[in-house]
Amino acid sequence: MEIVDIVPDVLKNNVMITTIDGLFKWARSNSLWPLTSGLSCCAIEMMCAAAARFDLARFGYEVFRPSPRQADLFIVAGTLTWKMAPPLKRLYEQMPNPKYVIAMGSCANEGGPFADAYSVVPGVDKIIPVDVFIPGCPPRPEALIYGMLQLKEKIRHPEIIQKVKK
Ligand code: SF4
Repeated sequence: MEIVDIVPDVLKNNVMITTIDGLFKWARSNSLWPLTSGLSCCAIEMMCAAAARFDLARFGYEVFRPSPRQADLFIVAGTLTWKMAPPLKRLYEQMPNPKYVIAMGSCANEGGPFADAYSVVPGVDKIIPVDVFIPGCPPRPEALIYGMLQLKEKIRHPEIIQKVKK
């Protein structure tokens, strides 16, 4: 017997049934709190995404937090240098679990135009785990929003992502 079968017909249009885990995933995926941080030019597009024209608030993701203790999403927007790598890792470690990372732009993905420079990390995934990579130099605000919606799907359906990886 399905759990929905025990709900009286008169209530079926008024009652939603889920699991606690499903409820948490739904809540997390609709209220990501990004850390206020930017490394270089890609961060300007990130700021645009939060402003009125692109209105990240439509998706519940506009509450940028100045403290890693209050953030669950790290958008690494810009060029990561080896000198900045330890502070970046420390900020990531200070974020509470569960936490997510978006690498925004070619520099964060793999060093971009500076990939061969002695001072640049060739991809932020060399330092911290990354959930979503967004290509572009810089990616437009729409691309960041699309990447965040992909992260939303990943949070809600981690089992699909795991199957794709296999
Ligand atoms: S990807 Fe392009 S726009 Fe983004 S930080 Fe690198 S050089 Fe700047």
